[in-house]
Order: sequence, then structure tokens, then C-alpha cells
Amino acid sequence: MSYRTVIHWFRRDLRLKDNPALAAAAKQSGVVVPVYVLSNWKGHHGWTGTIRQTFLCGCLASLSKNLDAINSRLILRSGRAVEVLRKLIAETGAEAVFFNRDYDPFGREVERELAALCSELGIGCHGFKDRVMHDPEEVKTGSDTVYRVYTPYSRNWLSMDKEVPVATPKSLGQPPSADICASMDLPTAAHWGLPECTAEIPAPGERAARARMRDFVEGDRLIEYAQNRNIPAGETTSRLGQDLRFGLIGIRELFARCQERAQDGRLNGVSRKSIETFIKELAWREFYMAILFHYPEVFEAEFNPEWRGMPWPGTDEHFQAWAEGKTGFPIVDAGMRQLLATGFMHNRVRMIVSMFLTKDLHCHWRLGESHFMQHLVDGENASNNGGWQWSAGTGADAAPYFRIQNPWTQTKNYDPDGEYIRTWVPELKGLPGSAFLTPPKDGIPIAQGYPAPIVDHGTERQRTLAIFAKHRGERAG
Ligand code: FAD
Repeated sequence: MSYRTVIHWFRRDLRLKDNPALAAAAKQSGVVVPVYVLSNWKGHHGWTGTIRQTFLCGCLASLSKNLDAINSRLILRSGRAVEVLRKLIAETGAEAVFFNRDYDPFGREVERELAALCSELGIGCHGFKDRVMHDPEEVKTGSDTVYRVYTPYSRNWLSMDKEVPVATPKSLGQPPSADICASMDLPTAAHWGLPECTAEIPAPGERAARARMRDFVEGDRLIEYAQNRNIPAGETTSRLGQDLRFGLIGIRELFARCQERAQDGRLNGVSRKSIETFIKELAWREFYMAILFHYPEVFEAEFNPEWRGMPWPGTDEHFQAWAEGKTGFPIVDAGMRQLLATGFMHNRVRMIVSMFLTKDLHCHWRLGESHFMQHLVDGENASNNGGWQWSAGTGADAAPYFRIQNPWTQTKNYDPDGEYIRTWVPELKGLPGSAFLTPPKDGIPIAQGYPAPIVDHGTERQRTLAIFAKHRGERAG
């Protein structure tokens, strides 16, 4: 054992199982002081909102309970992470800080500050790979450059050796008592000045997330994923987004379980292919993390410099109609209302609504990016930015700008019976699926209380093509 007392700084790894930094801290020290530091911003925030913060609060309550069960104690503090950790090091006499690494620019900045603090104090500072199977620095081209396109990235990612889950610590020793080392009470959304969450969000915490993982991996959804994943009605995908976002499950364990299922001799080729398709989605997640790691400027600007400075002449009224699910395009409105009601939106519909905002309404993709971050329970900087830039046609491996999805055709392909639409748009409950496949004639609303389409898709498509072409021409000229 190298240390008497260390701190484990919980970040996006709110679990005890398959947690590399926590396992290492427990192995190397007699006492591990577990801490989570809450940010102390207040009120409206462009990048988060009550849905995800409420889920976080539930996860902290669950983590606290799980730590109590092994005679440890979660210490909750609020403020600037490095200042909080400096104080806690002084109070506990910790000789090292353990944490799992983050890949976005904000997380990395705090890690740099922490490294400087630990070096000033002459104590250990140990960061671990946890959120990904492969660090952004690990997956490079043959000539040691960064991938800018998903397919070759994923091929390389898939071929690399994968780490196995780490053991769960049985004990973390007994951290200092509350007299010596105080903790704030478990927070609610009010801590950030946010209203109570009225959306129906998934059950928070490690145990609930593990149950979701089990249900998905052991049931039919995984082996039918390839056929069903584009159907937005019902539960066709894993719904593990928030669990990966907050680290309620370890990526190594999820991967290992999928591999284990693939070994089942009773599975046919189609089922095995489904598992492979699902694993490729996990590679998308890491691809976008790598993009953000290597090109942090994507938060500020288009990944593809060609499209920087292009006008996005959308109006506030159109943005508002989109955000509230009142565009008169049933599939778009269903998605936007599912998001407000649950903090989730199916991936296929995320693509439809994001392309609609940018290509039919001509609103800047950053407005949509921010709206999604405020409402998604799985809101994740890297994937969200990647998804939005993909749809806007400005990103890494993006859909070329001239490939513009038609919301009516998308409905025909993925919700032909209208089941998804009727679930989320009550005004349309009594209508058959055929009512949602083409725009209403003469702009007459298809149901009482439901708007007529606010734009004509064909016209707006032409306008988008003209805006992109003009910008390209001006740059060239
Ligand atoms: P599944 O289909 O079961 O996939 C399993 C996991 O793989 C997901 O939980 C996610 O971690 C990862 N994944 C799947 N597809 C993608 C993808 N295209 N890009 C990156 N990771 C992926 N995903 C987020 O996790 N957070 C976001 O904020 C986010 N914003 C998005 C915004 C837009 C405009 C678009 C088009 C996509 C966005 N995605 C985001 C990707 C994707 O929509 C979600 O990961 C997925 O819908 C979550 O549901 P699931 O867990 O059931 O996914």
C-alpha cells in the first residue's frame, strides 16, 4: 500500500463497479475519501437544465447510499473543483488525488489546475482512462494523425485490444467523521436555482442503470438492434445514453457483456450482426469525444472551415415553434415534445429535427445544440456537438450539405403507421398514419388545434442549397 489516505474525486463516474480510479485508490490506500464537487452556477444555463441536473441529484443520492453500505461516506461540496479539493486535502491530510479523466476542454482545464495544485503540495495526482475503451490519443492513423472520418476510425477502434472490467472495491476504509470533514446535504435542482423537473426521466443511480443494461444485453433488443434501431416508436434502442453520460455503468463492462452475448452458440448471423452494429454505435461516441479532444474549437465554430461565417437567416418565431413542437410537421413536433416530456429523443428523430431546424428553418445549429443540451438527460457535449454539426453539414464526416432529408419521406420510412407521432402529439391521436406522410393540401391544418406546416419543405430545400452555394462561391471568389 503506497498511501495512508487519498481522495477519490467522483466526476462522470458515479458508480462503484468497474471504476478504474476508485479501484486503484482502494488498492493503494488505507482510506479513500470520496468526494463530488457540485458546480455553483445559478439560474438559466445555455448548456444544461433541470432535467439532467435532477437526474444527477438522483445519481448522487444513490451513490451516497451505496457508499454508506460499505461504511464509507460521500462528501458533497460546492464550488470551483480545485479550490474545494485544496481545502479537502488540507482537512484530510490526503497524500494523493485519484480521478477518471475527462476529454472535453472544460474537464481537461480542471485536470491541469489539479495537477499544478498537487505538484505545489507535493502529493500524488493520478488520472485514469475510464469513459472510453480507447483514449483519443490511442486511435490514430498509420501516419500518426488524427482521424477526421468515422469509418476508418471505427475500423481501427474495433481491431484494437479491449480492456476488461476492473474489480469492485469491497471497502474504502473509514473516511474522517462529519466533525472533521463536513458535507452539504444531498442537492436538488434548486441548488442551481432551477425549477422542479416535471419530465418523466429514467430512474437514476447505479442499480437502475445496471438493470437497464441487463435488460438490454440479455433481452431481444440487442439481438434485434440492427433491424429495429431506426424505429422511433416503442423502445428499440438501449436507452443507456444517460448511464454512459454519468458513468453509472462502465464501458468495459458493457462491451464485455455484449461480447459474451455474441458468444452464445444459439444466435444466428443476423443476431450477431446486431451486436456488432450496436458496438459500432459505441465507437461513434468515442469518435466524437476524440474530435472534441483534438479539435476543441468545434464548440465555437464549424468543424469544416469552409462553412465558417455562413449566414443562418432563421427567425426567432420559427425557432420557438420548433422548440415547442408546433411546426405543423408531425414527426418533428413528436420528437420535440418527446424531448420536453422525457428528456429523451430517439436518434432517428434527433437527425430529423436537427436537419429540419438547420435546413428547413435555416436556424444556426448552435441554437439547436444548446436547446438539446438544456433538455436531454443524456446531453453530452461531444456527441451533441457532433450530431448537430453532422446534420448541419458542417462537421466531421457530416452529411454533405446537399443531402437534405425530407421529413415526410422520413415519416414514411420510419413511422409509416404514425404510432410514434400519435404517442407524442395528442392533437393527432385520432388520425391514421397516412395523414402524416404528405403535407396537407392547401395548407389546411390536419387536425383542430394543430398548426399547418410553417414552411414548405421543397422551397426551403432550394433556399438552403442556394445559401450554401453562395457562401462557397464567395469564399472561392
Ligand atoms: P443506442 O442506439 O442504444 O446507442 C448506444 C449508445 O451508443 C448511446 O447511448 C450513445 O452513448 C452511443 N451512441 C449511439 N449513437 C451515437 C451517435 N450517433 N453519436 C454518439 N454516440 C452515439 N448522444 C448522446 O449520448 N448525447 C447527446 O447529447 C447526443 N446528442 C445528439 C444530437 C443530435 C443532433 C444527434 C443526431 C444525435 C445525438 N446523440 C447524442 C446520439 C444519439 O442520438 C444518442 O446517443 C442515442 O439516441 C441515445 O439513445 P440510446 O442510448 O438508446 O442509443
